Amino acid sequence: MIQISQKCVGCGKCTAACPFGALSLVNRKAVASAACTMCGACVSQCPVGALSLPATTAVKKDLSAYKGVWVFVEVGNNGQTQHVRSVGYELLSKGRELANQVGEELCAVIIGSNVSPFFAEMSQYGADKIYAVDSPAYAQYNTAAYANALGTLIKKYNPSVVLFPSTFIGRDLSPRLAAELFVGLTADCTGLAIKDGNLIQTRPAFGGNIMADIKCPDYRPQMATVRPNVFKKVVSAPGKMAQVVSEMIPLPAEAAKVRVISTHFDPPASGVKLDEAEVVIAGGRGMKNKAGFDLLENLAAKLGGTVGASRAAIDLGLKEKDKQIGQSGVTIAAKFYVACGISGAVQHVCGIEHSDVIVGINKDANAPIFNVCKYGLVGDATQILPKVLEQLKK
Ligand code: FAD
Ligand code: SF4
Ligand code: SF4
Repeated sequence: MIQISQKCVGCGKCTAACPFGALSLVNRKAVASAACTMCGACVSQCPVGALSLPATTAVKKDLSAYKGVWVFVEVGNNGQTQHVRSVGYELLSKGRELANQVGEELCAVIIGSNVSPFFAEMSQYGADKIYAVDSPAYAQYNTAAYANALGTLIKKYNPSVVLFPSTFIGRDLSPRLAAELFVGLTADCTGLAIKDGNLIQTRPAFGGNIMADIKCPDYRPQMATVRPNVFKKVVSAPGKMAQVVSEMIPLPAEAAKVRVISTHFDPPASGVKLDEAEVVIAGGRGMKNKAGFDLLENLAAKLGGTVGASRAAIDLGLKEKDKQIGQSGVTIAAKFYVACGISGAVQHVCGIEHSDVIVGINKDANAPIFNVCKYGLVGDATQILPKVLEQLKK
């Protein structure tokens, strides 16, 4: 919490400066509440220098002791078989690029039970080394157990970069580790690069209106999460076999606090999943109504694809919430994506820009969607789509 010294004269200037409403005046002295996030915004507002942030408990690290790019490779389970989630291979592919740039090793970390069948494929996506914590005790995800295992490895081997998938598990595990290791964590990165030895983590900020480049120059490891489909999978080392380092890490006592009583798997959704579809036809507010979306369903059926939507269309009830594409929905990487009656707001575009061919249909020739399109059709989508369907029939 912010520290307030005896110098406070009760002028009240800091109370208005606090974006979290954490400061108030009590008996003409500033008092901070538990809402204080230690953002520091109030410090410079005090005319008598009464406000200060407590000295950080983190010790600046000797950066040269930290080497290697690590990827946490998540094991998924559909109720019958277990598999490596595809985003793990996407991160290994990007990690390979980053490791080459800094001239360091790319290491995969896998935690689970009976994970050795995945080693060969992880190697092909570029891993030089695989740290495996393989035991029946890790068959099911447990936050405390997994965080302890990964934290133990990080403290033992000192990687410079650790990448996590932005999945339910990655989003649960990574902040816990960041807090324990006292390092930063950049969530949902849309770009990763190396500059001057630091990991540049790009992500939308301020509601997606700007893209922020974030770096953590003083602390290691540099940690980031990335959503599925942001990076492409690249088999960079066919036939290669990484060095496997098996680690036995007993479960911490804390793991016993959570017991999985039963597990329920939803039946697989019918049709192609949006984030795995090669062809995606999406509609926005411009499609107006159900009849407009029926045209999209017809086109998707004809092309063997699936239908997605912008947030505005979902807010209008034209499609189910889980079909939203964009910053707060699904990121797709289709071979062929058609945006119909979608303006191309940055929050939508960041979910489609990894598609190979983007087509826009919009009646406004200045719509931003045309900035990211390979092909653009200016006109009324409700008139263009029936003509396209007609041609496809022929
Ligand atoms: P509009 O912006 O209203 O555009 C409609 C378009 O249709 C216009 O360009 C118009 O010219 C065109 N049009 C109208 N009639 C026709 C016709 N007959 N034929 C052809 N074209 C026509 N949005 C998302 O999509 N996904 C997200 O994940 C997402 N996350 C967000 C997160 C945050 C924090 C915020 C602040 C916003 C988010 N948004 C998201 C909302 C985003 O900013 C836009 O408001 C939204 O994408 C707009 O949807 P739209 O393009 O369908 O609607
Ligand atoms: Fe408010 Fe930030 Fe000051 Fe805390 S440090 S009192 S959150 S302005
Ligand atoms: Fe006290 Fe400084 Fe806040 Fe004024 S700005 S109330 S002097 S802490």
